[in-house]
Amino acid sequence: MSTPDDAFPVLGILGGGQLGKMMAAAAVQMGVAVRLLSPKPAGPMQYYAHAQTADWTDPDVLRAFAADCTAVTVESEWAPAGALDAVRPDTCALWPAPETLALIKDKGVQKQHLAKAGLPVPDFANCPTLNDALDAAQAFGYPVMLKQFRGAYDGYGNATAHTPEDLRAAWPDLAADDGLQVEAFVDFSHELAVQVARRPGGASVTYPVAHTIQRNHKCHAVHVPAPVAPDVAAEAQRVAHAAVDAVDGVGLTAVELFACADGSVLINELAPRPHNTGHYSIEGCHTSQFANHVRAVLDWPLGDPSLRANAAVMVNVLGDRQGTPPRTTGLPDALQQPNVSVHIYGKPDVRPGRKMGHVTAVGADVEALRTAAEASATAIQL
Ligand code: ATP
Ligand code: MG
Repeated sequence: MSTPDDAFPVLGILGGGQLGKMMAAAAVQMGVAVRLLSPKPAGPMQYYAHAQTADWTDPDVLRAFAADCTAVTVESEWAPAGALDAVRPDTCALWPAPETLALIKDKGVQKQHLAKAGLPVPDFANCPTLNDALDAAQAFGYPVMLKQFRGAYDGYGNATAHTPEDLRAAWPDLAADDGLQVEAFVDFSHELAVQVARRPGGASVTYPVAHTIQRNHKCHAVHVPAPVAPDVAAEAQRVAHAAVDAVDGVGLTAVELFACADGSVLINELAPRPHNTGHYSIEGCHTSQFANHVRAVLDWPLGDPSLRANAAVMVNVLGDRQGTPPRTTGLPDALQQPNVSVHIYGKPDVRPGRKMGHVTAVGADVEALRTAAEASATAIQL
């Protein structure tokens, strides 16, 4: 006889985009039922029967959703975790905790918290007024990065200021009522990312160090392992692990880092969820970031995060036209590449620069994998 203690869990996901879709796939693989709740009909969630579109700020909607779930998680730091927390029954866990999300989703709060915990971050100042920002930029020396505190993604909330005039010009667009963040420009040798999966009690596993390659401030490709010295890689993993402990992250947390020429490592930012820079782990690692996220939020034992092969390379598939629906014309060619796995998210509208899918190549030689992955991604042409 099944008792409530050994019944298979039901995982609720606030969000219906590609991250929710891939979390759900990992859950389903282990026999965990999923429920998705999204405020608009997100394309990627269409593949699941229990996907619901409703006003997720409505306490009644959230109460009914949580009542059905053993645990709820989020695919985005913007999901209404605090509102769900207020109405969930004791039988429904919620990870990451709203307190963790609150520490991460405001870049000013996040950086202050990490700095206070003694973790290495670039020089920064949270500036309530334009004059404060001009003073901070003067002190750091131009150029500086200007960062919106909340709501930024894919570089949309950032601007580089080379002069005080640039800063004045960017201020009205980026500053909120409480201003913006001014950050010293980091002359990095590599941008890195490290995923950490952590259970409620603090047990964790740390993924290999990934080299993330941006184009137009957007992740274009990821190479694993990163081509950095072993002591730099070890430092990146140490710092990532410590950062996730510092915010009490539960589930998968991604840590974006800068590696500098002098061998030091600085934290750029944290994301309290599976991340684009960890997609390589689906085929590349013994346990993917999504599988370990699901295990962590259910407080189940974590799996081995190490690479299954010498290397893995991921390349994003971005929209290159405005149109609907996506087309499969290029897929047969894309699928010809050996050792390349193709992921199409199922977004109904193609838009230039929109993340529509990704491909991952796993094997021996990074350069050959990148060539194969680029060929596959380029062929797709949705
Ligand atoms: P995403 O959603 O892609 O993670 P975001 O909008 O939150 O991005 P950031 O990660 O803050 O933005 O910055 C985007 C990119 O801008 C970084 O990946 C990096 O290439 C560059 N960048 C950010 N901060 C700095 C800095 N202090 N010095 C130099 N480059 C920076
Ligand atoms: Mg970033």
